[in-house]
Amino acid sequence: MSSTSDPKIVIVGAGQAGAEVATSLRQQGHAGRIQLIGEEAQLPYRRPPLSKAYLAGDADSDSLLIKPRATYDKAQIELIVPAQVARIDREARRVVMTDGREEEYDKVVLATGGQPRRLPIQGAEAPNVLYLRTQNDVDAIRAELQPQRRMVVIGGGYIGLEVAASARKQDVKVTVLESAPRVLVRVTAPEMSAFYERVHREAGVDVRTDVSIDRLELNQGRVVAVILADGARIDADLVVVGIGLVPNVDLARNAGLDVGDGIIVDEFGRTSDPNILAIGDCAYQPNAWLGRPARIESVPNAMEQARTAATTLCGKAIAHRSVPWFWSDQYDLKLQMVGLSQGYDQVVLRGDPAGRSFSTFYLREGTIIATDAVNRAAEFMISKRLVADRVQATAAVLTDEAQPLQALLPLTIKN
Ligand code: NAP
Repeated sequence: MSSTSDPKIVIVGAGQAGAEVATSLRQQGHAGRIQLIGEEAQLPYRRPPLSKAYLAGDADSDSLLIKPRATYDKAQIELIVPAQVARIDREARRVVMTDGREEEYDKVVLATGGQPRRLPIQGAEAPNVLYLRTQNDVDAIRAELQPQRRMVVIGGGYIGLEVAASARKQDVKVTVLESAPRVLVRVTAPEMSAFYERVHREAGVDVRTDVSIDRLELNQGRVVAVILADGARIDADLVVVGIGLVPNVDLARNAGLDVGDGIIVDEFGRTSDPNILAIGDCAYQPNAWLGRPARIESVPNAMEQARTAATTLCGKAIAHRSVPWFWSDQYDLKLQMVGLSQGYDQVVLRGDPAGRSFSTFYLREGTIIATDAVNRAAEFMISKRLVADRVQATAAVLTDEAQPLQALLPLTIKN
């Protein structure tokens, strides 16, 4: 790895996308210097277990690591952690860190991710109002979790529901407050929301939807209750907020790059400055399968965009093309989702939710555009191909469990 002709690459952000682009560059033969700058002190780690096994105390911090330190050393990936990049001087091709350190670059990859949307109400700055994005965030939540303590979760999205499930395992009393009429409203059909609301209620969670929070009641600087607009009072020993993600785009915007709902990149990951790429939760990229640009908040998307960016940086541009997919673990339920369940005109259930194993298919004009599979890993794997290939199906076929889903796959298997 001593070639001096390959560009020096600085990666800003050492999350899953940043780590993947670094290692992927080496795998694809990049021989120039690679620096990976991250704000957190830890080696790059996986975030999905944070709201699941790690919060529940079933996983330790070593198990979160994406790679051991030796892997970065061997690949000559220079880890600069903790360090925060303050600005990018595009003219001088230099990133400037808040502690005054500077690094020159030929190419930059922005993998700056996002941060939790803050609760815009008074009292939310109290120390027992907690967010969940980093390992340190979860350590702070864990320190507050004790059996019989009362936790109010604000937001019934992935974070809120996974936190609720993990806390119930520890016999914490949990209330979930969702402003929308149903949980998981952004990502699933009403049938799925109803299923998850029922599962949580059966597990002892007080799920309240359509609520509006008026204020947080404080005593000696700590929140002691959440007061709803209808006057209801919910006692709280701690509050966990999961009301969405705001992409970190300031660095890009201040550097004069094009920014919208994320840092705007082309199908190869390049921003409006071809020497700067962006990947992961912060990137707004054309998606050939969707037929429009999107900012997709998911680990698989971050990994795929990272590999696309590495390919681009190695001079072999191949357009990013993938179908979004997600997963969520709650209690004994593994939910796996492929496609985006927006713009459907029909929802079809295969299997019985009461049996805790079923799939939900979303169709538009007879074409399967998304699937949510609950404890049906095999159907999820097939659905990935059904959705990618825009397969047509009828409700009669999908609901008939005697008919294998494989039969719907196109005969010619494409790579
Ligand atoms: P999310 O999925 O966007 O869900 C946030 C929920 O909170 C939405 O239903 C939102 O409703 C609701 N909400 C917003 N403001 C509220 C308020 N003031 N009071 C009550 N409810 C409110 O975001 P998230 O759960 O916070 O997750 C953050 C990020 O982590 C996302 O990128 C997510 O994909 C990722 N994550 C993913 C997983 C997974 O894939 N399993 C697990 C954990 C985290 P509206 O839509 O009506 O605003």
